[in-house]
Amino acid sequence: MARVVVVGGGFGGLASAVRLAKLGHDVTLVERSATLGGALSEVSQDGFAWDAGPTYTMLPAVIRDLFRKSGRPVERELELVPLDLVREHRFEDDTSVRLPGGSRSAQVAAFDAMSPGLGQRWVDHVASYAEDWDVLRRGYLENPWDPTDLPRDVAARLGSRETLHKRLKRTFKDERLRMVAGHPFVAEGHDLRNVPAWAGMTAYVEQRFGTWTVVGGMARIGAALEQRLATRRVAVLTSTEATDLVVREGRVVAVATAAGDLDADVVICAVDPRRLPALAAYVERSMPAIPPVVTHVGLEGPGPDLPHELVLHGEATLVVRTGGRAPDGCSAITVHGRGKLSEDILRALARHRVDVRAQVVTRVDRSPRDLVERWGGSPMGVLWQGRATTRQRLGPRTPVTGVYAAGAHATPGAGLPYVGLSAALVAAEIGPA
Ligand SMILES: Cc1cc2nc3c(=O)[nH]c(=O)nc-3n(C[C@H](O)[C@H](O)[C@H](O)COP(=O)(O)OP(=O)(O)OC[C@H]3O[C@@H](n4cnc5c(N)ncnc54)[C@H](O)[C@@H]3O)c2cc1C
Repeated sequence: MARVVVVGGGFGGLASAVRLAKLGHDVTLVERSATLGGALSEVSQDGFAWDAGPTYTMLPAVIRDLFRKSGRPVERELELVPLDLVREHRFEDDTSVRLPGGSRSAQVAAFDAMSPGLGQRWVDHVASYAEDWDVLRRGYLENPWDPTDLPRDVAARLGSRETLHKRLKRTFKDERLRMVAGHPFVAEGHDLRNVPAWAGMTAYVEQRFGTWTVVGGMARIGAALEQRLATRRVAVLTSTEATDLVVREGRVVAVATAAGDLDADVVICAVDPRRLPALAAYVERSMPAIPPVVTHVGLEGPGPDLPHELVLHGEATLVVRTGGRAPDGCSAITVHGRGKLSEDILRALARHRVDVRAQVVTRVDRSPRDLVERWGGSPMGVLWQGRATTRQRLGPRTPVTGVYAAGAHATPGAGLPYVGLSAALVAAEIGPA
């Protein structure tokens, strides 16, 4: 049995801790803030509550696998339900597309409704990722791999110079399709000229598996995992910041905190490794991707009639997410903003004819800086800076013996599926006690 210390209590840390405890290890989790969950948590004010970060997930199988491999199946604890639409996109020329998930034919119909013939172009693009997904899922995302000995088909993809920008430009004459395909990366703060083309397989995953949410809010996943920490006897130290790792002769022996050192045979870094001096030198060529501006709004009366996610393209990209809890007769929405946002976000929203200003009862505004400070790093993980980024970040192994990396900074993209897979990889690398 190894003494494992998990640094960080966001989804990546929680998932790593419950998996390793189930494998029989003696696990301690340290979290700098007073509560667990990181971005997978709730914001509340004046009787309203909103998901602070994620409001849906792709690949629900990752969450199902996590719950099954660490205790009871997810169905016993949470209601994970599919969303009808992945999202609606509205463009500056007043056209729009409602993108359904989980169905190829429904996507053909949705794009054909925008302009006949676009449907086939879209699904051909998505289908071009089927093999990338298959190869990378098996050889890179779901099973541990050796960076010095990657399977040939994995290495060919990771080594490709083709960028998503180039691929989309070559594939689509219609700029709107490029915007739809590029959106998940723009939303996470990337420049498509720096994102490798293979990462666009997100579109394939959305089409094939759809997007899913949890009834009552995604933060319930964090709360369920917190309960599981107790069942699995994980020692949880909240309000405890890890300040560094103690490394002797190349091997980790403890995690340093303000309250003293915690002895460890194995450490899981589920935070931005830049925050731990012993790891910072290994990631000095990578940079974090920055979260958007986030405004949670409580409204009097019913909210605008919108799907779960609406993307408004323009000089600034605005994303409206419906959902959240509200007192009787009220409703809740969250708005994200990126790009040239030179006025109040609700005013910018009103320009797109989604005007909720007269209904506002309460609002919580968080700048990217507020969010990064709150979570001790960016939950958006590592900024894509070209194909080398996969080598410039850590995970699942690190150069320090006994130290592994999970979470958004250890994955090829932020988002709960990748983060959940990173925890599974770390657990597979370490193995049973
Ligand atoms: C606004 C927003 C919307 C999003 N929407 C979605 C979505 O709809 N779907 C989706 O799949 N993903 C979404 N994401 C991404 C998703 O939230 C993240 O990928 C995921 O939650 C990251 O989990 P994590 O554990 O890696 O990091 P975090 O959630 O950032 O957790 C890190 C934890 O470590 C703690 N910590 C930091 N430093 C230390 C230290 N030195 N010592 C101890 N503890 C420390 C922090 O306090 C925090 O609790 C969204 C993110 C944001 C910000």
